[in-house]
Amino acid sequence: MSEAPPTPENSRAVLAIDGPVGVGKSTVARRVAERLGFFHLDTGAMYRCVALRAMKLPEEKRADGAALRRIAEQSRIDLPEPGVVLLDGEDVSEAIRSEELSAEVAIVADDPGVREVLVARQREIGLRQPAVLEGRDTGTMVFPDAALKIFLDASPASRAKRRTEQLRAAGEAADYEAVLAGLMERDRRDRARPVGALRIAAGARIVDTTNLTEDVAVSLLAAMAQDHPVFAAAAAGAARS
Ligand code: C5P
Repeated sequence: MSEAPPTPENSRAVLAIDGPVGVGKSTVARRVAERLGFFHLDTGAMYRCVALRAMKLPEEKRADGAALRRIAEQSRIDLPEPGVVLLDGEDVSEAIRSEELSAEVAIVADDPGVREVLVARQREIGLRQPAVLEGRDTGTMVFPDAALKIFLDASPASRAKRRTEQLRAAGEAADYEAVLAGLMERDRRDRARPVGALRIAAGARIVDTTNLTEDVAVSLLAAMAQDHPVFAAAAAGAARS
């Protein structure tokens, strides 16, 4: 698929939000989707589901492309409501957020076969209804023809500070320097991935949230979508049906 910036005639009613770890994409995407009445797809949750299954493989099989692809193909992943993730009918919303899994998920996300399977599913979901997709490659690989692409960014220091505060609020002992180092390593890996690497999509608008509150970021993105003719047409269509 070409990566020429989409025109109103050939673009999809999709808001694609990409950005580095810890920038607050998930919360912002969820709230923008709620405000617009769009479906919210957390693509990272899908990679996490495949990683959860991959952890059950014997150690020597965990980086085996054919085995990983098979897992992706055979996993039924549903996101019935915000924050809820079902894997083959089982609620794994919490299990996919464990620290142990976060280390494993990078191997799965680096695998081109897994990406091919998940990207095709993400595209299928996004074509069913107006949607907000969020991840690393939603504007470059999944929907290069998204009507609106946002690259959400923030300085590493502000992302690490936010993440440290979240962990402490959840009762975990978090060290800022360690959080920052972990975040920089994940950034490096996200940007170096052979397929689906994190980068700014053609035509994307960059929104730097370093000095923005979450409320302001949500309002800004929702306003950009509401001003867009493709989304206005989708909303009018939904109101008629
Ligand atoms: O965003 P989150 O941390 O939940 O993503 C989980 C993993 O999946 C990360 O390693 C991330 O790099 C990867 N990912 C990806 N492509 C996406 C979304 C997430 O490779 N579209």
